[in-house]
Amino acid sequence: MGSIQSDANLVGIDLGTTMSVIARLEPNGTTMTIPNSLGDPLTPSIVYFDGSTALVGRMAKEAAALDSSKAALFVKRDMGSPFYSRTVAGRRFRPETLAAIVLRKLKQDAEKRIGPISKAVITVPAFFDDTRRKATEDAGRIAGFEVLDVLNEPTAAALAYAMQSQREAHATDHWLDVPGGEMKAVVYDLGGGTFDVTVVRLRSKHFETVATDGAVRLGGKDWDDRIVDYLGRQFAEKFGVNPAEDPKRRDVWTPLAERYKVILSQLQSVPVELNHQGHSLNLTLTREQFEEATADLLLQTRMVTDLVVTRQAQLGWGDIDRILLVGGSTRMPMVKNMLREVTGQAADDHLDADQVVAQGAAIHAGIIAAKGREGELEIADGLREELEDVAVINVNSHSLGVKALNEDGQSINAVLIPKNTQLPYAASKVFRLRTPGATSIRVNILEGEAAEAAYNIPIGECHIRQLPPNLPRHAPIQVRLAYGANGRVGVMALDMTNGLFAESEIVCGERLSNEELERERMFVDSLNIP
Ligand code: AMP
Repeated sequence: MGSIQSDANLVGIDLGTTMSVIARLEPNGTTMTIPNSLGDPLTPSIVYFDGSTALVGRMAKEAAALDSSKAALFVKRDMGSPFYSRTVAGRRFRPETLAAIVLRKLKQDAEKRIGPISKAVITVPAFFDDTRRKATEDAGRIAGFEVLDVLNEPTAAALAYAMQSQREAHATDHWLDVPGGEMKAVVYDLGGGTFDVTVVRLRSKHFETVATDGAVRLGGKDWDDRIVDYLGRQFAEKFGVNPAEDPKRRDVWTPLAERYKVILSQLQSVPVELNHQGHSLNLTLTREQFEEATADLLLQTRMVTDLVVTRQAQLGWGDIDRILLVGGSTRMPMVKNMLREVTGQAADDHLDADQVVAQGAAIHAGIIAAKGREGELEIADGLREELEDVAVINVNSHSLGVKALNEDGQSINAVLIPKNTQLPYAASKVFRLRTPGATSIRVNILEGEAAEAAYNIPIGECHIRQLPPNLPRHAPIQVRLAYGANGRVGVMALDMTNGLFAESEIVCGERLSNEELERERMFVDSLNIP
């Protein structure tokens, strides 16, 4: 076993919508969350600008409550878009840059405790598409990390769950075995701004995603918004003016609403006092009223859960051994009650819903290191051997297809790799040339589920050029898509008449160039992040 310092440069990071967490794998196989400079394991994912100073975390949250125009919140919801949804301190920012500032703060604080860190695994919701994943990876690079991998949050949770179960069973010579040999689990992840449900099959050192689905814009924030709306209506009934319609007032009420929500997870009611334009609303908000005002949000998560298990994974609820809860919002009693009703079993809430993802990411960083790809990892020999053999198998969360014309001349999405296919996977299909004599062919790759091409996201293209000018109508062209375990997509197009082919790896349009990355990194470097 080696010193702590030497493997300190590998961490796992849960870059959350509302909270972020950084953790590392200890030489003895436990995972440790690294507290920030205030001693908290959770750092609010909020950035507040004041000149060249960027506050991150709890201080930023407090400052944001006073002046929201200088604050960036819920950046994760905009990952993959060219710009953050609104201006911050009079500037437009890329979501990557804002996320990078949060990551930089985590790095900086953690380094004070464990020494230099350079390599990280960063997690994303399983449901994130290619563009959002790449934006997350870029955020890590701007922050100064070498990003070892971008890992699905439910997979991270499953890894941490398996490791912790074994430790609790004192089976520390089999770190990553699974109690009972095989287990199917549903990971229900409701965070601050995203929601997903994933079915995982766990066997000894084998972590397999069976199906996954979710919503990129559904989370605790929506529950907070409902409280603001509800209180706004109560206010309007009494005083004839609805403060919830005033964006500035909403910004002040939202953190209060979050506080009421958290209290309602423990208590049946909470006293509310709100002031606006000289009026004061005093009432008692009950858990029942809160649950009624948010019932449709919970129902959305219920429908997705049922869809993923029964339709996508084609399992019955009796096949599911465990329900694992991830994300702070699963502390709401309504979530546990709903899951018990749907699944017939109590959810397993003994993992720390806030920290489990970062801890799983730290284990994944250990797996990558143990497989020898990342230099020396000084850990117990038994653990290294276990980690070396771990297989983590993911599925694609969105279908991958090719833009084609059907018989009626409509532009359709010809799916080659349906969603929830285990990766790596490759598929090919033969298309027919529509225009006789065409000398070049462009293959457009689409990500998404819609039948009509226009409703999917174009993620790249591949050209075969300089075809002989005599190709007849209906000449066969084979297209092959290969989806790697790392989430990268390769495409090959073959003119079957002449044997000419073209191949490319898809690079998304949104991805930052090296110069852009460098520019954003210089900007982050120039900030004072206390
Ligand atoms: P995460 O993104 O997983 O850190 O989840 C953060 C979300 O969980 C935020 O919307 C919090 O308001 C919410 N949350 C944290 N603790 C509780 C609690 N005890 N009851 C209800 N919601 C909570």
